[in-house]
Amino acid sequence: MIILENEKLSKYTTIKIGGIAKKMYVPETEEELIEAAAKTDQRYVIGGGSNLLIAEHEFESVLNVREFDKTIEHQLEGRYYVGASVRLQKLINTINKDGYGGLEYLYSVPGLIGGAIVMNAGNGKEWNNCISDHIVRVKVLHNGKIEWIEKKKCHFSHRNSLFKNNHEYIVLGAEFDFPKQDLETSKRLIKERLELCKRLQDSSKPNFGSTFMNYNKTIIRFAKRLKMGNKKGIHFSRKTGNWLVNEGNGTYREAVRQIKRIERVHKLFRKKCDREVILWD
Ligand SMILES: Cc1cc2nc3c(=O)[nH]c(=O)nc-3n(C[C@H](O)[C@H](O)[C@H](O)COP(=O)(O)OP(=O)(O)OC[C@H]3O[C@@H](n4cnc5c(N)ncnc54)[C@H](O)[C@@H]3O)c2cc1C
Repeated sequence: MIILENEKLSKYTTIKIGGIAKKMYVPETEEELIEAAAKTDQRYVIGGGSNLLIAEHEFESVLNVREFDKTIEHQLEGRYYVGASVRLQKLINTINKDGYGGLEYLYSVPGLIGGAIVMNAGNGKEWNNCISDHIVRVKVLHNGKIEWIEKKKCHFSHRNSLFKNNHEYIVLGAEFDFPKQDLETSKRLIKERLELCKRLQDSSKPNFGSTFMNYNKTIIRFAKRLKMGNKKGIHFSRKTGNWLVNEGNGTYREAVRQIKRIERVHKLFRKKCDREVILWD
């Protein structure tokens, strides 16, 4: 197992913000992950780091789950076992080549299978597709023991699951059932997704995708008109309503201040506002 000391966490988050992990455990096998989980604070598990906002202080121990299981095993007709360390794009490319599909709308998401299961990653509410649509059961480490949890007991809902903010569980992998799909269709769906993202998503600066999973568009638009935020630090993207972008000098405190401001305005107008990004403070 790799153990890194005094590792900068900003290297591991897509928003490029974060303090120091005094020890970062990077298990390379499932056995090593079990060993590392017993030594670390399970509040601090990092996958692709694409939905994380991390404070700039020191964290005693962080568990990095990027390396321990990159298995993609085709078991029978469209049924796959996929390890938590697999990148979404890798999984999509592999199943597409085998003649299966169903996740092409996640091709733009810079996360791992484990993180995508925890967050129940998907596309917008108007389409309402999410990774759990294809899950059969999830393999977890629960209080030091390996367990399989059937889909209906994983409590998946919009950007939510049994595993989100629940530090009793580490997702090890999952079984999926994917429908048959010809390669031409898969390629077209990926192309369409990437074109849509290019048009609507601000990829010019580091970010963590959506800040909120439920919010009022008018309130966010109003906040943007007020030009909330620091031009050289963190501000809401002009292109993508719900995204905070880091111009380079952004800090955790500044990002949290803006999130809290938006939450307060929602409260004032009695509008629903639920944060999607996970904070480590
Ligand atoms: C450019 C961009 C586009 C995005 N587009 C989308 C989109 O279209 N749809 C969407 O839903 N999201 C999107 N996101 C958000 C994000 O990519 C997803 O939520 C993604 O699934 C998070 O996966 P991750 O591996 O990066 O998780 P991380 O950010 O590393 O972690 C997220 C949470 O899961 C926990 N976690 C991670 N792995 C495990 C594990 N194996 N076991 C237990 N806990 C774990 C972490 O502790 C943390 O609480 C986008 C983000 C970016 C930067």
